[in-house]
Amino acid sequence: MKEYKLGSVVIMKKNHPCGENNWTIVRTGVDIKIKCNKCNREIMLSRVDFEKKLKKVVEY
Ligand SMILES: [Zn+2]
Repeated sequence: MKEYKLGSVVIMKKNHPCGENNWTIVRTGVDIKIKCNKCNREIMLSRVDFEKKLKKVVEY
């Protein structure tokens, strides 16, 4: 299982409705919570979903 670190900045395939696609990981585990770096909204994704939607990890 791939490890994701808290505070890592990630880019998702789809933009958030606010226009941003740059997020910070704020919680890891079975579910992964990411926070939009523009509007600060947080969303919770299952790990499978997260990996499906993830484009790349920018910064560890
Ligand atoms: Zn946003």
